[in-house]
Amino acid sequence: MSVPAAAISSALTVSTLFLRSLTEIAQVEVRGVEVSSKSSPALARVERRRDGFWIVFQPRMLDAPAPALLFVLAHEVAHIALGHRRIIRRLGFALMATTPLIGIGFFAVSIPQIVHDANPWLLLIESVIWLAALLSPRAIILFVARRHEYQADRMALTLVGNPHTAVAFFDWLATFKPYLMPLPLRLCSTHPPNVARRRALLGGSPVGAPAQPTSAH
Ligand SMILES: [Zn+2]
Repeated sequence: MSVPAAAISSALTVSTLFLRSLTEIAQVEVRGVEVSSKSSPALARVERRRDGFWIVFQPRMLDAPAPALLFVLAHEVAHIALGHRRIIRRLGFALMATTPLIGIGFFAVSIPQIVHDANPWLLLIESVIWLAALLSPRAIILFVARRHEYQADRMALTLVGNPHTAVAFFDWLATFKPYLMPLPLRLCSTHPPNVARRRALLGGSPVGAPAQPTSAH
């Protein structure tokens, strides 16, 4: 997507002003906002770099109306203030460390039984349990990440103090050409559907609002 340099400059200036005010309220430090050249389904994301936190936009964020832009920035600032990246990273390390132990323990207990019984149904059930145990860390991370999205939305609303910004954001998302992610991708997404986020935050959704997979991160 090609965006004129003047539009980038104008949107980034507005974003920087918004960001300054939000970081003061949330009492966090963010180095700045920049536009990503890499395509991503997330409209915005937080990056931790050597010099601190940065908020990185997809180019289409530059077309967002100012209230929607403000809400997205507030959402990202909320992720930083609530320490969500750190929580997910620690959780990931903890789960990575425990998964091999689950596998070893499972095999140590179940293999002798399976060999002794030579029962194909038992083997099938044991295999399903083993697979579920291996997949459960990912399920735990998805569950926590989705809770984080709702938390960031709520804190964003508190930071901006105006529900119209959230309405502007979700209305703006609803203007995108709707497309439906394949079910496996939706199940693996770290983000709840935008309709669900809107309902959780604002207590209702407009008739016909499409379930957009694209969202602020
Ligand atoms: Zn988010």
